[in-house]
Amino acid sequence: MTNENPKEKELTTMEKIISLCKRRGFIFQGSEIYGGLAGTWDYGPLGVALKKNIENLWWKRFVTDREDMYGVDAAILMNPKVWKSSGHVDTFTDPLVECLECKRSFRVDHLEYDEKLLTAYKNATQKAAAKLLNTDYTVHQKAFDDAVESCDSILEYVKALGRKKLTEEELSAFREFVMIAKDSNEKGKSVVDQAERLVSILSESKKFLGILMRYFLNNEVDCPNCGKKNWGIPRKFNMMLKTQIGPVADDDSISYLRPETAGGMFVNFKNILDTFHPKLPFGMAQIGKAFRNEIAPRDFIFRVRELEQMEIEYFVNPIEWEGVFESFRKDMWSFITDDLGLRKENVHELEVADEDRAHYSKRTIDFEFDFPFGKKELYGLAYRTDFDLKSHAEGSSVDLSYFDEETKQRFVPHVIEPSFGVGRSILAVLSNAYAEDDLGGETRAFLKLSPKVAPFLVAVSPLLKNKPQLVEVAQTIYRDLKKKLGRAIFDDNGNVGKRYRRQDEIGTPFCVVVDFDTIGAPDANPEFKDMVTVRHRDTGEQERVKIADLANYLEAKLK
Ligand SMILES: [Zn+2]
Repeated sequence: MTNENPKEKELTTMEKIISLCKRRGFIFQGSEIYGGLAGTWDYGPLGVALKKNIENLWWKRFVTDREDMYGVDAAILMNPKVWKSSGHVDTFTDPLVECLECKRSFRVDHLEYDEKLLTAYKNATQKAAAKLLNTDYTVHQKAFDDAVESCDSILEYVKALGRKKLTEEELSAFREFVMIAKDSNEKGKSVVDQAERLVSILSESKKFLGILMRYFLNNEVDCPNCGKKNWGIPRKFNMMLKTQIGPVADDDSISYLRPETAGGMFVNFKNILDTFHPKLPFGMAQIGKAFRNEIAPRDFIFRVRELEQMEIEYFVNPIEWEGVFESFRKDMWSFITDDLGLRKENVHELEVADEDRAHYSKRTIDFEFDFPFGKKELYGLAYRTDFDLKSHAEGSSVDLSYFDEETKQRFVPHVIEPSFGVGRSILAVLSNAYAEDDLGGETRAFLKLSPKVAPFLVAVSPLLKNKPQLVEVAQTIYRDLKKKLGRAIFDDNGNVGKRYRRQDEIGTPFCVVVDFDTIGAPDANPEFKDMVTVRHRDTGEQERVKIADLANYLEAKLK
């Protein structure tokens, strides 16, 4: 086992978690009996229970336990202008590329390649583009010659990297990269137009991959599906899911399933101001569904097309943003460790660099988690300045400013946005909890879920299911616990050992067993009368607890 490939082991863990989720009724593939629908998942009874527990912990910590938070539940369908103002219509895109051989599409940033090599390609192309921009178009034929010549310098770059010797074929493929400006659509246009098109293609490639990327891919990257190198030109793909409102399908009827819950809060900012008259700082919170037309949904519930978010838009005077940012950072850590029970060493803060942040954001921290398939984003905390309210004020022509009574100042509040994915929380909790050990000479797989999130806190059972006296007492205890704690289950299937295994597998922290001592049967230990066995999931240890103390005993475990 020691020389096992670590990557293989990781995959196995993920597969085991997915299989457990299906087998025990946590999460199923969406529309499974019809062959499924990629990127959608259905939560079964245990998955729902786990999800609700997580959402309730979040809502309690960030909304009900605070005095400055306003909960909302906005509509998923919104006026499409909302997404124009927020920038989603223009910029909520992923770079998509199609393999012309097998017709499969991929996200360019999901393909495997050497980043350094791509950077070399990009640098060289920018130089070529700059050279073209400075060209006098009146001598257009020369412009093309220069372009070809400049682009030849890219080949020199590639050669210098010592990767390979370039063939005549590759050389001509590269010239095609320049001459694509003359593609069939452009026939009949002047050479000046073509030169401009080439410039725009080249400058766009700086921001968004484009034509250069195609050249790069065709030289360096095999299709992960068919192994060929025959790529189309990457294009921007808007990830919003379009829908149609009303019976007539035209441009005016197009709307979107919201790509994030935030929009629903910004459009209600004025409603909250007008109805509750809060003073800054204050926040709005929402838990709800959002939709993204992911090109390649993957990693179980990590990257999906229908997701759930828990988001806060917290409005501040810009002079106080740093303190608020820090305090949310702390609260997010408390949620991660105290509420979800994730191990601190598996969560990492990533300070998002200037060039990777949205242009309006002054600071962003990603919280990353060590998932079985690698370190990936779990949550985000962003200082978004006044971008959102300003954009929506402009887009709607409604004043979204705030008047500070004390300083007599009017300004547009700035926003701190802590953002949490529900599915990612669940996957982190499951990955964190999945464990295998040796108990009583047997290997067991189980979920070490924190009592706060476990679908059931306790399972109650009679030692034997065919002894009515035991069953009756167990049923009474079960009903009492269910009434008081909610999260109790009655389980009398199979023998006690099997029940323990079953409960371990779904992460139930405690099993309560009613035996002959409990009911004071003849030959029973009188000391143990009116007491039950409480068995602990993680250690397998057992103790006797008085029936009368049981609810308090278990409730204390939730603190
Ligand atoms: Zn292919």
